[in-house]
Amino acid sequence: MLCLGVESTAHTFSCAVLEKNNKKGKILSDIRKIYRPPEGAGIHPREASRHHIENSAQVLQEALQKADVSISDLDIIAYAAGPGLGPCLRVGAIVARSLASYYKIPIYPVNHALGHIELGKLLTGSKNPLVLLVSGGHTMLLALTYGKWRVFGETLDITLGQLLDQFGRSLGFSSPCGKQIESLALQTNLYASLPYSVKGNDVSFSGLLSATKSLIPKGKEIACFSLQETAFAMISEAVERALAFTQKKELMVVGGVAANKRLSQMLHQVCKRQHCKFFVVPLEYAGDCGSQIAWTGLLESTTKSGAKLDETFVRQSWRLDSVEISY
Ligand code: AMP
Ligand code: MG
Repeated sequence: MLCLGVESTAHTFSCAVLEKNNKKGKILSDIRKIYRPPEGAGIHPREASRHHIENSAQVLQEALQKADVSISDLDIIAYAAGPGLGPCLRVGAIVARSLASYYKIPIYPVNHALGHIELGKLLTGSKNPLVLLVSGGHTMLLALTYGKWRVFGETLDITLGQLLDQFGRSLGFSSPCGKQIESLALQTNLYASLPYSVKGNDVSFSGLLSATKSLIPKGKEIACFSLQETAFAMISEAVERALAFTQKKELMVVGGVAANKRLSQMLHQVCKRQHCKFFVVPLEYAGDCGSQIAWTGLLESTTKSGAKLDETFVRQSWRLDSVEISY
């Protein structure tokens, strides 16, 4: 069974072709083009959607070529229907809908957050994890119970990715800036005190962002190191409590921020204390990509038929905990 997955929720336009044989999945191609805003600026939805429109044909062509398939070989098409930025989401939805209707291929609207989780499970081999989803669009702790991914903690304001990106932009970097912050943080181990805000099992990062900006005169490295230590300690506390509560024996970290080594190190310690296995999505597939969407579409197609074309709209605020998992 072959699926084309289209991702366009925010900065990335990506097409991937995946093959499913029983429960095994194989990535045949995964091509991405990433919109980069000007230095110091955030993602502009209209500019990002223009980038996606300009690159969509080439990305699609490369994905098909690399997989060595043609559109008529595809069994299904899946696209990320939300959550995300409206103008960006619509580009992927239009590409997917046009192909599906012209070639009469079943189409599956996929929840982007679910895509991160399902590809993570495929690539790490994790079976029944507590999931930490940390990306530009999400900061959530999730566990699958009674057919839905339930939330066991989340951010009350900005996401962990936004915290790093907004702070990085105040240093003059262009988004996404998590990697540059990680490199600067490695250059010191001087910690300056910052506000630590865990409420119940939720975290709040907006006060931490303002306070870290006021640390910049002490040195960029100190500010980056202190920011990472504080934010990741907050996340680790919430993860440890959720593990103790849910009694899950696996933790899986997915989303772009999963690429951060210091975060993994701290979470590894948490897992040791809770006698639980630790999985991190491979770096190459941590950020947004078409493979996440294609694999989830393939899983959904085992229990559902494709959507009617008039159901293939986009949902900017589509929460994962409203999605029924039927496969
Ligand atoms: P996504 O939305 O899943 O594509 O993830 C993008 C987010 O991951 C952005 O906020 C990036 O700054 C962040 N990110 C990427 N690499 C790293 C890293 N090495 N450390 C921390 N954050 C990172
Ligand atoms: Mg994402």
